[in-house]
Amino acid sequence: MAAHYGLLLGIQSPWQVQRVDLQVEAKQVEIVVAHARDGSVACPHCGRACPRYDHTAERQWRHLDVMQFTTILRARVPRCQCPAHGVVTAAVPWAEPSGRFTLLFEAFAVTVIEASRSLTQAAELLRVDWHTVQEIVRRAVARGLVRRSTEAVTQVGLDEKSFGRGQDYVALMTDLPGRRVLDVVEGRDTASATRLWETLPAAQRRKVVAVALDMSEEFATATCQAAPQAALVYDKFHVAKHLNEAVDKVRREEHRKLLQQGDASLTHTKYLWLQGACPEGERALSFAELCARNLKTARAWMHKETFGEFWAQPDPGAGLKFFSQWFPAARRSQLEPIKKVALTLKTHLRGLLNYFLHPITNALTEGFNSKIQAIKADARGFRRFENYRARILFHCGKLNLLPDLTLRAAH
Ligand SMILES: [Zn+2]
Repeated sequence: MAAHYGLLLGIQSPWQVQRVDLQVEAKQVEIVVAHARDGSVACPHCGRACPRYDHTAERQWRHLDVMQFTTILRARVPRCQCPAHGVVTAAVPWAEPSGRFTLLFEAFAVTVIEASRSLTQAAELLRVDWHTVQEIVRRAVARGLVRRSTEAVTQVGLDEKSFGRGQDYVALMTDLPGRRVLDVVEGRDTASATRLWETLPAAQRRKVVAVALDMSEEFATATCQAAPQAALVYDKFHVAKHLNEAVDKVRREEHRKLLQQGDASLTHTKYLWLQGACPEGERALSFAELCARNLKTARAWMHKETFGEFWAQPDPGAGLKFFSQWFPAARRSQLEPIKKVALTLKTHLRGLLNYFLHPITNALTEGFNSKIQAIKADARGFRRFENYRARILFHCGKLNLLPDLTLRAAH
C-alpha cells in the first residue's frame, strides 16, 4: 500500500512513503513520508547537496481526498547545513514552503473557490473552515501578483466603490484594454488615489497615456502628480449621472410646487426623465404631453438629452463647437441645477474633449459591479479591508492563481 500511495502522490526518491495509517471511523488516511536517512539534503536556496543537520518537528499537509477519506500527509523535514546559506529547512516537493496543503489540494481549492458563490460554500465543499479558505485566497493572490506583468498597461480607469456599511469607500485602478482590476486601496481622497498609482511600477506609470476618471478633484490631483503625461478623460457615464441628478432636482422642486396647486402631473415620473430617450408604448403619450406643457422638468431634460450628442462628435474641434453652442443655452436656462452642471462641465472641458482622442470610459468597473456586490454580500470577515481587496483581485484581477505544480518535478 505504501508504494501505491507513493505513486499516487508522485513521491520520489529521496522521499518515500513510510507508513499509511487508515482510520476508517474518522474517514481519514494519514500518509507518513520520510526523507532517505543516508541521503544528502539539497539546499532550498542554491540546490547544493549538503550534509544533513537535523529534522524539523513533524508537519502535516492536507491532500486531495481519496475515496472521500480526508488525506493527510505527515513528514519531518530535514534541515541541512549549507556553506553559503547556513542551517536551512529543505524544500518538500509536494507543497510551497509555508503551505499547509499539498500543491494539488491548493490548486483544486483555487478552482473550487473560483466557481463558488461564496467563501462559505467553498469552505463546505472543501471541508475546511472559512478562515482557511480566506488564507488560500490570500496566498493565491500573492502568487498571482508576483507573476503579473503590468507592462502593457497604457490606459487605466480610476473609480470608487462603497465598502462595508456607511460611508466607507475604496478606490480601484483598472487596466481598461486588459479588462482587469489592477489594485484596490482604502478611501477615495488624494492620498488614496496616490497610493493606488504607486501600486504600479514607476516606469510603467510614465507609460500611461490616458486615464478614465470621474470629475472629482482628488483623482485628478493624484494623477497629475503620479502620471503628469497622462491625458485625463472624464468618464461619460459619470457626466450623465451629474446631468440626471440635475434633472431630478428640477423635477423634485417643480413637483413640490405643482402638488401645492393640486397638480400631480409629475408623480411617478422620476424614471421617465432618467431614461435616455422618449419611452415607447403606453407611457409615450403622457410623456409627450408632459413635454408639451413646457414644464421646467421637460426643459431640464432637453438640455440633458442634447448634451448626449456631445459624445457623438467626430473630433475635439467638433466637440468644442458643440459645447460652445450647448453651454450658453444651458446657462440661460434659469434652471439652477442645470446651470451648475454646465459650469462644472466647462471647468472640466479639456478632459471632456480628450474623450475624442482617447475614447475610454469606466464602463468596465461598472461591469465588475455584480461580482463586487456578490463579494460584499458574502461579507463575513470583511471588517478587514485586506480580505475584500484580495477577493476583488482573486475574481477580477485576471491573475494566474494556481500553485506551480512543476515544483513537484523539480525535486
Ligand atoms: Zn545554499
